[in-house]
Amino acid sequence: MGEEERSLNFIEHIVEDDLTNGYGQKDLRFRFPPEPNGYLHIGHASSICLNFGLGLRYNAPVNLRFDDTNPAKEEKEYVDAIKRDVEWLGYEWDTERYASDYFQQLYDWAIELIRQGKAYVDSQSSEEMAEQKGTPTEPGKESPFRNRSVEENLELFEGMKNGDFGEGTHVLRAKIDMASSNMLMRDPIMYRILHRPHHRTNTDWCIYPMYDWTHGESDYIEQVSHSLCTLEFLPHRELYNWFLDQLVDSDRLRPKQREFARRNLSHTVVSKRKLLQLVKSGVVDSWDDPRMPTISGLRRRGYTPESIRNFADTIGIAKRENIVDVSLLEFHVREHLNKITPRVMAVLNPLKLVITNYDEGKEEWLEAENNPGDESAGSRKVPFSRELYIEQEDFREEANRKFFRLKLGGEVRLKNGYIIKAESCTKDGEGNIVEVQCTYDPKSKSGSGTEESLRKVKGTLHWVSIPHAISAEVRLYDRLFTDASPDTHKDKDFMDFVNPNSLEKITGYLEPSLKDAKVGDRFQFQRLGYFNVDIDSTAENLVFNRTVTLRDTWAKLEQKS
Ligand code: ATP
Ligand code: MG
Repeated sequence: MGEEERSLNFIEHIVEDDLTNGYGQKDLRFRFPPEPNGYLHIGHASSICLNFGLGLRYNAPVNLRFDDTNPAKEEKEYVDAIKRDVEWLGYEWDTERYASDYFQQLYDWAIELIRQGKAYVDSQSSEEMAEQKGTPTEPGKESPFRNRSVEENLELFEGMKNGDFGEGTHVLRAKIDMASSNMLMRDPIMYRILHRPHHRTNTDWCIYPMYDWTHGESDYIEQVSHSLCTLEFLPHRELYNWFLDQLVDSDRLRPKQREFARRNLSHTVVSKRKLLQLVKSGVVDSWDDPRMPTISGLRRRGYTPESIRNFADTIGIAKRENIVDVSLLEFHVREHLNKITPRVMAVLNPLKLVITNYDEGKEEWLEAENNPGDESAGSRKVPFSRELYIEQEDFREEANRKFFRLKLGGEVRLKNGYIIKAESCTKDGEGNIVEVQCTYDPKSKSGSGTEESLRKVKGTLHWVSIPHAISAEVRLYDRLFTDASPDTHKDKDFMDFVNPNSLEKITGYLEPSLKDAKVGDRFQFQRLGYFNVDIDSTAENLVFNRTVTLRDTWAKLEQKS
C-alpha cells in the first residue's frame, strides 16, 4: 500500500494532534525498546514497523534502545541478534542506546527522591510485601519501614549499592499511595539487589532498576516524544507519569506513553519466554529454526523483509488484541516471491516416465522462461531425455474428466517440452505404480511454432530428466502447533499442542541449473511452492526449505471440515 493511500492509524492521529497543538516537527523522536532476553518475533515486527514507520513519515530520529535491566535473563547474543534483525527488516536507527547507559543517572535521581522523602528502603521479604499489597477493592497496608528517616534510607541504599547485603534483603520503593485504586501505585519497587554480572556493566552494579523506574526516565533522557508500548502497560501509564513529575524540567520535552494492541499470530506463540522454552526443550533446533515465528526463523525460511513489512502494514495498529491468521502472513510472502523468484522444475515424489519413441541416449536442451510474468528475468535451458521423473500424484491409471493430469490413454504437455500420451504402466508386487510408458509427439515442441505445438491440451506437468537431475534434501514445514491459539487454553499448556509433524525431510530431484544455487537463493518450484537454499546447504549436499506452498492448502482443509 502506498503511504498516501493509507488512512492514518490512531497513533499517527495522536502525533498529528500534537503537531497541531504546539509540538514542532523537530520535537518528534521515537524508540524501539527491546529487552535482550531472546530473539525478536513477528509481534515485534509490528512494533518495529510502527516506530520506524513514524520516523520515516515525520523525518524524525528513532533510537534502538535495549531495555537491559535484568542481567539474570539478558545476553550479548540477543543484543547482536536484535540488531541484525532490525537491519534486515530494512530500518536504520539513529543511535544505539542501553538502559544500562543510565544506571548512574538513575541512581542519582533515586537519591534525590529519597532526599525529598519520596522513596524508602523496605527491608521486608517479598512475601510480606505481597501480603500488604491489598486487592483492587481493598487498600494496602503501609510497610513498617515506610517512615524511615532520610539519613537511614540514604545509608541503606548506599549499602545496597556497595554490595553489603544479600539478594532479597532490601528493596528501594517509591512512596506513593498504598490506598491507590491502581495497584501499581502502591509503593512500587524501584530497585532490587541482584548479585549478577551484567553483559555490559559487568560487576559495577549489584542493584538494578525496575522497568517502571527505568523506562520513562530513559525516554526523558533521550527526549523521546512518543513512547509507544503494548496495552498491558496501560495501567503503568500513571506510574510512568508520576516518576516524570518528580524530574521533568519545564524547559525539556516531557515524553508521553501511548499504548497499542499486542499482535498475535495463529498456530504459534509470540512470547520470547515461550519461544525460549521451545528451543530449550528441543522441539525446534534453534531460535532461527525455520518453523519459528522469529524474524531470524522467517528469514532462514525464505521470507523477504518486504513481505513482513507489507504484512505489518496490512494488519496495521489496533486498540484491541486479536489473533491474526498466519495465512495472511503467508499470502504476503507468496505475493512478493511470485514477483521476484525464478521458476525452476523439481520433482519431490518421483514417478519414472519412459518415452518409448524417444531415442535412447538422445538429449535436447529446451528453452525455459525464468519468469513468465517478467520478461527481463530471461531464460535458461533445461535438459530433456527419454527417461523423466514426474510427480506420483500427477498420474492415475483411471480418472474422471476433472483430472487434468496424466491418465492412461490421455495427453498432457510437459512444461517447456512436448505433448505426451500415457500408453501403459508397470506395478510392483504390492500394486504400486512404478513406471509409466508414454509416447510423445515430436512436432509438438513448445515454442517451435508448428500447428502441433499450438495444440491445446488440458494439463501441463513439471518434470526433470532422470540422467541430468541433481538430488537435494528438501525440508517441508507445517504449522508448529495444531491449535490456532495454543497458549490461550486454561486447562492445557501450549506445549501440549506442538505438531509432531511440523518437519518432513525428503529427497527431491531438481533440474541441473540449481547445482550452483547459493545459501539464501529463492526459487519457485513450479506447481509446488517457493523454496530457498538453507544455511545447512553445501556444494555436495544441497538443502532447500519450503518457504510456503503455492496455494493455501490449509484454507481448503478448513473449508472441508
Ligand atoms: P515478549 O513477551 O515476547 O518478551 P515483550 O513485550 O516483553 O515481549 P520487549 O522486548 O519488551 O518484549 O518488546 C519490545 C517492544 O515490542 C515493546 O514496545 C513491546 O510492547 C513490543 N512488542 C512485543 N511483543 C509484541 C507483539 N506481540 N505485538 C506488538 N508489539 C509487541
Ligand atoms: Mg518482556
